[in-house]
Amino acid sequence: MKTVRVENNNLVGLEPYDPKYLPAEIMMSANESPVDIPAQVRMAINSAVSSLAFNRYPDPLANTLRDEIAAWHGVKRENVLVGNGGDELLLDIALVWGGKGRKMIDCPPTFSVYSTNATLLGTEVVNIPRSMENFSLDEESIISRVQSGDIDYLHICSPNNPTGNLVSISFVEELLNVSDTLLVLDEAYGEFCNQTAESLLSMHKNLVVLHTLSKAYCLAGVRLGYILAHEDVIKELLRVRQPYSVDAVSQVIALQVVEQREAFSPDIEQIIAERNRLESELSTIEEIKVYPSQANYILIGIDNAAEIWQRLYGKGVLVRDFSKGHYIQDCLRITVGTAEENTRLLSALKEVIEEEQENLW
Ligand SMILES: *Cc1c(COP(=O)(O)O)cnc(C)c1O
Repeated sequence: MKTVRVENNNLVGLEPYDPKYLPAEIMMSANESPVDIPAQVRMAINSAVSSLAFNRYPDPLANTLRDEIAAWHGVKRENVLVGNGGDELLLDIALVWGGKGRKMIDCPPTFSVYSTNATLLGTEVVNIPRSMENFSLDEESIISRVQSGDIDYLHICSPNNPTGNLVSISFVEELLNVSDTLLVLDEAYGEFCNQTAESLLSMHKNLVVLHTLSKAYCLAGVRLGYILAHEDVIKELLRVRQPYSVDAVSQVIALQVVEQREAFSPDIEQIIAERNRLESELSTIEEIKVYPSQANYILIGIDNAAEIWQRLYGKGVLVRDFSKGHYIQDCLRITVGTAEENTRLLSALKEVIEEEQENLW
């Protein structure tokens, strides 16, 4: 057999994305909803899927779904683009605004997909890390770097994954005003906080707001994300997107979910209430530093985080390990579960901390 040519240079050092998914009794690692979609929505989906023609290609732009999303957010169809998860849209954005000789700003610790996409395409990544203290953005450095005029795009995640904190809307507005750099505001967890920058869209062509149905709308398994932006920005993205990336089944499922979005409100309210309970109960544990969160997960700092993670897993609770990273260390991210799951997490965590201390003496 012949050998095979070496890979694209940009791939050197790139690791495949690993969600670190492991089987566990209590899944608190991927920021999914702990409950599935409401029963009446499931019924409507079943009947819509049963009359679907599988032999036909789907509508490439999913215009029926686009119209429903546009009406929801008070924009026009031309301001909406749907993708195979928010992740596909992030790659499309990197394809249009990134590439060789172009630059993006990354503000770690944040969602790793941003810098991975940039690197993949040969985009230069300019790191402006968040504060070690509370993970707030270095607003001054970002503004002055963007003002220099050579940054093509940047991502800001709000609430930020994995740290849970929000960006200030006045900073977003300032950032949009100081240059023509494209700002991608990732509001994947926006339904769990009471803030959105959407009202800035009508006045700012250089703003993209990203949403997903994977988190608050319980559709991680279906893969449906969308962005809101100026029609000229959407037009650029139409040039690079895969035509049939959002399949017919996903389109009808998402349409039912968006049409019946009110049915999801009680579960979203419940997750917010449980987040607040978890946050205050975690704060009573002396060995833990709790980072206040506006999302459906909470980041905690704890000594020997890797060991704690392992012991929690041993008790059937899977959380996300952030014990070793470039800009984040000795942290664990806990996705808010059902009330019962959160109570189990709290007692498992207390047991594990005690076991650790016994081991030390
Ligand atoms: C989950 C997530 C997304 C999008 O996820 P999809 O499942 O691809 O829609 C985007 N940004 C952040 C920060 C996320 O955590």
